Amino acid sequence: MLRSRRMKIKSVQARKVSYRESYERDALALRAGSEHYMDVLVVMVETVDGAVGVGESLSYGGIDTVASAVEKMLAPLVIGQESYGVRSLWERMYKATYRLGRRGLVISAISGVDTALWDLLGKELGSPVYKLLGAARRPIKGYITGGYYREDKDIKKLVEEEKSYVQAGFDTVKIKIGGLSMKEDLERVFAVREALGKQVSIACDANNVYDLNTAMRVGRELEKLGVIFFEEPIMTDYPDLSASLARSLDMPIAGYETAYTKFEYRDLIEKHAVDIVQADASWNGGITELLNIGTLASAHGLPLIPHYSAGGIGFVASLHAAAAIGSPMIEYHLRPNPLRKKLAGDAIKYESGSFQLPDKPGLGVSIQPEVFEEFKLAEAA
Ligand SMILES: [Mg+2]
Repeated sequence: MLRSRRMKIKSVQARKVSYRESYERDALALRAGSEHYMDVLVVMVETVDGAVGVGESLSYGGIDTVASAVEKMLAPLVIGQESYGVRSLWERMYKATYRLGRRGLVISAISGVDTALWDLLGKELGSPVYKLLGAARRPIKGYITGGYYREDKDIKKLVEEEKSYVQAGFDTVKIKIGGLSMKEDLERVFAVREALGKQVSIACDANNVYDLNTAMRVGRELEKLGVIFFEEPIMTDYPDLSASLARSLDMPIAGYETAYTKFEYRDLIEKHAVDIVQADASWNGGITELLNIGTLASAHGLPLIPHYSAGGIGFVASLHAAAAIGSPMIEYHLRPNPLRKKLAGDAIKYESGSFQLPDKPGLGVSIQPEVFEEFKLAEAA
């Protein structure tokens, strides 16, 4: 039975961890001349009886600022409140930060707190999150994102990398494009297409960098190679251009992970800028908002395939939501990153290319406490 007193929120903490040895760049980072950090902000919400819920806020190079948003802007809004009022706490956080938030890092901060609240609710009720969301337990097909740019990665290494994902049991992989000339990028895709054979599906992700004309020319070539979707071809800020591209190509346009909350996704969906909707619990508004975006997509006859980028908690959160939304697939990475396991414990399990939903209370993740020391983010000099 719920006893509201013991579910009052006592504290909200943001813990920074980072694994920066093997990072690579996508086209957006390459063209902006920026790093593509996979830092992870772990958000911990504790109740007065000592129960702790965990979430993750995706933060790329802005981890200190997102941590500050969690602890300075959001914590005072939820401390002292009942932890089970997840949706009303989302509204409170969104509206209280509305003047400075609505997009970007504040929504990422809200995402971590929201996810932690769902985890907490599951733990308090002894139920896995997917059950709280009314979803049945079923395997969810995964696809593997790779083919990032790295100076020492030639086409041969790229092909080996993508092959390793197929050897791990996955039949769908993704390649980053947009970082080199059109000719060079198409050669990369062609080489992978040739090497993997017809049983394997390939998607391409341009991470926002093309103008409409280039996206059209690249898209026509990708169609000839049987690419299954063209992700974030154009900047998220130009939904009309994306819609124009979507009308001209047969290949589905997927995106836009760089959009935030149901409000921005509503515009993308209503303008027909996407054929496949991609969003992420650790970034676009938490589990609460991922469900809302999923409902919106469903009402327009579009699938939602969750995005994934960095830590392990966010992936598991998206996986629970994906079960409720009815997602046909979920994105995953297999490149070496010891943080993933240290944060998710055994909650990430796959077999024959599909992920099993964790069946423990809450998200089902168990953070290994040494992670915070072992992968401590080095302070800037
Ligand atoms: Mg992407």
